[in-house]
Amino acid sequence: MRSYDVTVFDRPLQARDYPTPQPSGEEVLVKVTAAGVCHSDLHICEGFFDLGGGKKLEMGARGVNLPLTMGHEIAGEIVSAGPDSAPVTPGKKVVVFPWIGCGKCPICLRGDEQNCSRPRSLGIYRGGGYATHVLVPHARYLLDMGGLKPEVAAPYACSGLTTYSALKKLDPRVLKEEPILIIGAGGLGLMCLGVMKAMGAHGAIVADIDAGKRDAAMAAGAVAVIDPRASDAVKQVRALSRDGFGVYGAIDYVGSQSTVQLAIDVTIKGGHVVVVGLIGGEITIPTPLLPQKALKLQGSYVGSLAELSALLDIAKAGKIPQVPTTTRPLEEANSALDDLRQGR
Ligand SMILES: [Zn+2]
Ligand SMILES: [Zn+2]
Repeated sequence: MRSYDVTVFDRPLQARDYPTPQPSGEEVLVKVTAAGVCHSDLHICEGFFDLGGGKKLEMGARGVNLPLTMGHEIAGEIVSAGPDSAPVTPGKKVVVFPWIGCGKCPICLRGDEQNCSRPRSLGIYRGGGYATHVLVPHARYLLDMGGLKPEVAAPYACSGLTTYSALKKLDPRVLKEEPILIIGAGGLGLMCLGVMKAMGAHGAIVADIDAGKRDAAMAAGAVAVIDPRASDAVKQVRALSRDGFGVYGAIDYVGSQSTVQLAIDVTIKGGHVVVVGLIGGEITIPTPLLPQKALKLQGSYVGSLAELSALLDIAKAGKIPQVPTTTRPLEEANSALDDLRQGR
């Protein structure tokens, strides 16, 4: 098999060729047919997340070991399984759930493996999809792809799941009855608009600093768009909200100091801010604001196996408008990362 690996942080990926592994125990070997290139891959291969104020979260300190095959959005076909695996069907087209935990702790047993303290996530802690093959620890992480194209199905494992899980955290009545605020009209923001539509949500006001991305958000069904750099951005969002006082729900797909601040500023009393983006920064919150505003400020990290399964059912039913995708051969993994880094 061949993989494109991070061998040194902040350097281009290196091609490596080695014998295709045999699955042991409960493992399943999957041939990769498509792997999504995620924005967080940039942070992983650079070796750190920016925590703001000059502080960094180093990937090494987080338990990421090199060499690493990145790629956590994986679509593929089952090849074979280890002797202790549940029965699998070779050739079956699957989407891989990559947010794998220890499988034994209370969090994992409650179905939230993505929040396990001993993560084994594919493409981060274990080999992922920037390869011809990937070893998956258990058959339960393989979900039926149905008739979806691999390049369409793969991103549901991260960007799709992340948006779905963030939306599921909001009060379903709010989602149905009034506009929420979405910050960031990149891949996640646009995916969110599509998933919202499929869930029967009212709609979203979308904030993005890029005029082209605001146009894309309008084309994807946003109720309205605003430029968050405008001096009256907060006023604009309030004016677009249901009763003019602010929104009950905001999802921040950027996660910078100014965007989280905007989300807090535009939410009404009892409102709910979900932070998803990892751009980095830090905020200061006057503590009386939390009770006085009855503010719910929540982080959301990817999503659960059950949520990915539910999302794929919606996608397979053809309810989610397709996000434009571009495919490239594995050999162009480095140029794909470069283009992503340059915002292309
Ligand atoms: Zn991702
Ligand atoms: Zn666990």
